[in-house]
Amino acid sequence: MSGAQPKGLPVINMSFNELPFGPSPAVSAAIDAVTTKANFYGNPSCQALREEIGQCNGLDPEAIVCGNGSEELLDVIARNFVRYDDEIVISEFGYIQFAIIANRLAARLVKVPEIEFTTDVEGLLSAITAKTKLVFLANPNNPTATMMPEKDVVQLAEKMPKDVVLVIDLAYGEFTGFDYCARVHDLVRRFENVVVARTFSKAYGLAGLRVGWCHAPDWMIPRLYAARGMGSVNAVAQAAALVSLREPDLVNARIAQIIAERDRVASELSELGLSCLPSQTNFMLTMLADGDPEQAEALVAHLFDDAGIVVNRTREKGLERYIRFSLSLPEHNTALVQSVKRFLR
Ligand SMILES: *Cc1c(COP(=O)(O)O)cnc(C)c1O
Repeated sequence: MSGAQPKGLPVINMSFNELPFGPSPAVSAAIDAVTTKANFYGNPSCQALREEIGQCNGLDPEAIVCGNGSEELLDVIARNFVRYDDEIVISEFGYIQFAIIANRLAARLVKVPEIEFTTDVEGLLSAITAKTKLVFLANPNNPTATMMPEKDVVQLAEKMPKDVVLVIDLAYGEFTGFDYCARVHDLVRRFENVVVARTFSKAYGLAGLRVGWCHAPDWMIPRLYAARGMGSVNAVAQAAALVSLREPDLVNARIAQIIAERDRVASELSELGLSCLPSQTNFMLTMLADGDPEQAEALVAHLFDDAGIVVNRTREKGLERYIRFSLSLPEHNTALVQSVKRFLR
């Protein structure tokens, strides 16, 4: 797949859940301005960025910690609470980073079976034991793109033992709505053991700059800084993220365009006999009518050879029949549908 495209076509990567739109002129200008001052350190605690995040989300800036992507923060949280042989509980098809983090810490990863590709809240709760230190939940989730109902998230927070930390990863929360995100942040205020993680990599389109943030209870904040690299969010990333928060209309318009494309592509694929899991994100998990893993593999190869399109196949147990792709520009999405059509012929 990493080799040259056989027809010499440009490669369209639809496998990383990235936004297809580049930085706005204002964000680009902020990036350029900081690069001319690259001799200076960025602010170690991301003060201005935290204040802007706080203002935009109605949160106390002191309750926010920024990191080198939310990836760093998920790791920092886990390193704080999980030791060798402790348990981390996740949903069956939970985000791959959760497993990677558990592996790094030599912790036991406990996977709770899903119901129709959606997290089972009762199952998660009953999987918690005396050895459980952390529950990771991405909602909406990657790679399934599905979401468990908000009331279940609330119920999970309410019923969780208070000595187990619940991390709610809202990497795709903006695609479900800023109101939803705000209500999840309320859980951090209500419960001393709940942390919410957010990112600038998806809806804000700054994946390459590596900025994420988390909203945590007061007692946890110093511990998170202690485990985080001092200058982990560089000055360019801080400036770009800050300016991106000042363009909510642009961000909302981009989200709306992605959602419109998601609906269009889902219906066109379903006309071709493919089924897509209901997506609450900027990507989809889809399956051919025959649901054959070998055909899924063949489709991945065909999309690249035929159209230069790179999609993802998790090969994860239980998801072997699916491919995952991110919604891109309309012309790229159309190219994908057309190429699927040729595959089926
Ligand atoms: C993409 C993604 C992230 C974001 O990771 P960053 O390190 O912030 O780029 C976090 N969680 C999930 C579930 C994701 O899919």
